[in-house]
Amino acid sequence: MGRRPFIAGNWKLNLGPAEARAVASQLRDALGDPSPVTVAVFPTALSVSAVLQALDGAEVGVGVQEIASQPSGALTGANSAVMARSMGCTYCLVGHSERRQLWGETDEACADKVLAALSAGLLPILCVGETLDQRRAGQLEAVLMRQLEVGLSKLQPDQALSVTLAYEPVWAIGTGETATPEQAQEVHALLRGRLVERFGPGAEEVRIQYGGSVKPANASELLACPDIDGALVGGASLKADSFAAIVQAAQG
Ligand code: PEP
Repeated sequence: MGRRPFIAGNWKLNLGPAEARAVASQLRDALGDPSPVTVAVFPTALSVSAVLQALDGAEVGVGVQEIASQPSGALTGANSAVMARSMGCTYCLVGHSERRQLWGETDEACADKVLAALSAGLLPILCVGETLDQRRAGQLEAVLMRQLEVGLSKLQPDQALSVTLAYEPVWAIGTGETATPEQAQEVHALLRGRLVERFGPGAEEVRIQYGGSVKPANASELLACPDIDGALVGGASLKADSFAAIVQAAQG
């Protein structure tokens, strides 16, 4: 299938405006010419404006790490998908495991946020993944299928095609421990099978990223797997050279 690889950098709560602007400019220089890879970065909301300026005209999308399910209102501290879009953002993350664990974000809340993103014209990356305990207890498939089914439950088939999925085993995030290419490929094939069952053959086009301690040293073998269409990168995206090396790996 002709799925264009998609490499995304989740900067989490790192890189304030000045640092984020610098890293974005370095990334712009490091990536150079247009490439066959979709690239995006997700700064903290406080740095989005600086990064949008630094990447103006570059082929690097910018996204927010979190959106509310409502466009505006009495929601102290939240980000609006409509406002993010109007600033110039293209993407948003939904359901990152840190949001699920630290803020108690449920699959139902993710479903509302995915719909809110698409309604505002933002392209969501829905993150799914199991904890080590869930994997050890043989619950991997049940957990992932619930996150997938409920997370996308409010969408029509044509809307689902605009979503990117990120499979991020929780035990591999920020731990230095990566799923083996075989483990990741097995899960990606499972997710893709369910997407096609639920949304029809067009869902073959949905990109599924792998996330969890991806770095230049392991990116190529993960990205070579047939159902791994890119990566959601945390730590290694904070430095332009390591992130650019992962983008390079996705070019094959
Ligand atoms: C992430 O935060 O989505 C992530 C995958 O982090 P890391 O690459 O640091 O494991």
